[in-house]
Amino acid sequence: MPQSIFEKIVAGDIPSLTVYEDDLVFAFLDIGPLSRGHLLLIPKTCYPTLDKVPDETAAALGRVLPRLARAVMSATGATAYNVLQNNGKLAHQEVPHVHFHIIPKYPAGADYGEGLGIGWPAGRLIDGDSLQKAIIAALEHGG
Ligand code: 5GP
Repeated sequence: MPQSIFEKIVAGDIPSLTVYEDDLVFAFLDIGPLSRGHLLLIPKTCYPTLDKVPDETAAALGRVLPRLARAVMSATGATAYNVLQNNGKLAHQEVPHVHFHIIPKYPAGADYGEGLGIGWPAGRLIDGDSLQKAIIAALEHGG
């Protein structure tokens, strides 16, 4: 059965600089960091995108994210960070095994990378009422 690159990391078949693991989740340093301390948090089981993650694993991911963020700030001295989670190729997901990036942000000119650059081309909410109804209806059917 084919394994994702991250499943191989969890299994120890590919080495990683692991910082945390429990029954359900695993965290390690990104091999191509945007800045010093860039971490990845993943479920041990491969789900391709966030919407496929079962509740128990989602809770395990959510439980450890703030703790990892605190540890990264403490270890690096960073005072700001982004949590990034890409789903689908169009959304810049390269590894089809769900993962959260924790990316410290440093002032411009930091010698090890400033962190995540963000483009935020805000638009105008023009169909809010119908969107609200459609999303509530979808949630009533389990999401
Ligand atoms: P994505 O674009 O899918 O959100 O991000 C995938 C991330 O996984 C990238 O930041 C990339 O550097 C990281 N990555 C890919 N392969 C490996 C690997 O073998 N080891 C580690 N530590 N990180 C990896």
